Amino acid sequence: SIVLGIESSCDETSASICVDGKIVSNIIANQTIHEQYGGVVPELASRVHQQNIVPAVHQAITAAKINKKQIDAVAFTRGPGLLGSLLVGTCFSKAFALANSIPLIEVNHMQAHILAHFIDEPKPTFPFLCLTVSGGHTQIVLVKNYFDMEIVGETLDDAAGEAFDKTAKILDLPYPGGPLIDKNAKLGNPDKYKFPEPQIQGLNFSFSGLKTAILYFVRDHVKENPNFLQENINDVCASVQSRIVSILLNKLKKAATQYQIKDIAIAGGVSANSGLRETLLAMRESHGWNVFIPKFEYCTDNAAMIAIAGYYKFLEKDFVGQDVSPLARMPF
Ligand code: ATP
Ligand code: MG
Ligand code: FE
Repeated sequence: SIVLGIESSCDETSASICVDGKIVSNIIANQTIHEQYGGVVPELASRVHQQNIVPAVHQAITAAKINKKQIDAVAFTRGPGLLGSLLVGTCFSKAFALANSIPLIEVNHMQAHILAHFIDEPKPTFPFLCLTVSGGHTQIVLVKNYFDMEIVGETLDDAAGEAFDKTAKILDLPYPGGPLIDKNAKLGNPDKYKFPEPQIQGLNFSFSGLKTAILYFVRDHVKENPNFLQENINDVCASVQSRIVSILLNKLKKAATQYQIKDIAIAGGVSANSGLRETLLAMRESHGWNVFIPKFEYCTDNAAMIAIAGYYKFLEKDFVGQDVSPLARMPF
């Protein structure tokens, strides 16, 4: 079977072709227009999706060396995400399915981040735990089957990606800040400054207290030394990153003990973070875990994860009708 996957939930327009469960193309058009605003501007995002979607699909089909007529189904992100952005991918997919008389498959973007682990070997075995950390979500998910997932912990306020991006803003780093904090952290001392670990019961997270602590920390130090940030940026980045990573992995450890599961995965944009990846890899030895870390290109938003999710739904003939509409919030 050949499935076309479409992703347009935020600011990446992406199209991918999956042939018999193998990803053969994955085209991602990033939107740079948002950099000057320090964050994604929804109205601009949907306009750029509109310009990019047809070329992205053309490129995905060409790179896959297939003919449009061979596509058996089109899978698209129904939600969660920005409504105007989701509408572009949804409307395109509905039109494509109608024009080619093929079925339409809806995909939950957060489930797709997790299902990115089924693109390449080694694939995790069910049940496993996945820490999904992205720009809008921070969840610990008990994955019982491809589409049988239970959120056992989540953030009560900011997402981990937001914590990175908001910290970057406080540190005067350009948007999107997550990758830049990662880059600076590699050159810094993670033990130089101690940021607080929130005391939240159970498996939930909170990042808003950390954000406030960083804000006051920077304000106080800059008052003493106006060049504080320039002189210490690497150590500050390393210390903040190390705290975010420890908050995430302490809860993941707790979940692994509680559910007696040793197959542990991470997913979403923040799973590209080298501090998180390295610390998790070290836990493979110390905790006897089987650890699953996505390839970099499948961490942040991409259509390959939508196409692979679509492939598993295609096998079950789990299709939707032309009356489907996108959902800004979409539970599992
Ligand atoms: P969601 O999936 O919750 O709808 P999203 O799709 O916008 O949100 P992703 O594309 O999955 O999010 O991830 C983007 C986030 O990942 C941003 O917050 C970005 O800063 C963060 N990120 C990307 N690379 C890194 C990195 N190396 N270190 C830390 N954060 C990173
Ligand atoms: Mg993005
Ligand atoms: Fe995402």
